[in-house]
Amino acid sequence: MPASSPPRRRSRVRVAALLLVVVEVPLLLAMLVAQLADPTPARAAGEHAFLQRAADGTPVTWDPCSPIGYVVNWDHAPDGAVQLVAEAVDTVEAATGLTFTALGSTRLTPATTRATDALPAGAEVLVAWAPAADDPLFRTGDVVGWARPVPVGPVYGRGQVALDADWYADATPEQARAVLLHELGHLVGLDHVEDTSQLMSDRNVGTEEYQQGDLEGLARLGPLAGPRCA
Ligand SMILES: [Zn+2]
Repeated sequence: MPASSPPRRRSRVRVAALLLVVVEVPLLLAMLVAQLADPTPARAAGEHAFLQRAADGTPVTWDPCSPIGYVVNWDHAPDGAVQLVAEAVDTVEAATGLTFTALGSTRLTPATTRATDALPAGAEVLVAWAPAADDPLFRTGDVVGWARPVPVGPVYGRGQVALDADWYADATPEQARAVLLHELGHLVGLDHVEDTSQLMSDRNVGTEEYQQGDLEGLARLGPLAGPRCA
């Protein structure tokens, strides 16, 4: 992305949403709101993209030297959700070098239009399953997840990951994992790419794990990319 564009993009409210239509086995993932807000041109296969960049061109990410505290609303979570979240977070930690700290449960519900300042002390991220009827994006019938990292100063300091409880109730373990990893990719700063072989594609045709382009992008979003934290 050219250095001239970050100021315009930083001012936007970014909601990276995941559309999913199940056609037999393949998942068709397409992004809703972020696509409308993202003028970034098509990218070559295997590449990655970032939601936002600082003025110097570096991707906006979380403070690599401070754990990302997260809470989970399990009210509408599917069976196996505790293990699902733990393993997905582990995967993102390994790919980025960022660290997450689980801070327990919450009854907070996600909302694209609301700040996450209601989070309990120390928590920066809300992960929640919501009934489709409760989420305007899920009510479309195609969106099954969205994520929104919010800058606080030069780094992300708040974030939400919302998952469609109705879709998750019938998802396979592989689908459940793929969607959560995709949304966590957004949470730490990745944008969509057009290469459908990547998990961060807006059209997923069955990809279940982060691929090379995804992993290269993730590695640039944490301390793997720079000086280690003391
Ligand atoms: Zn997405």
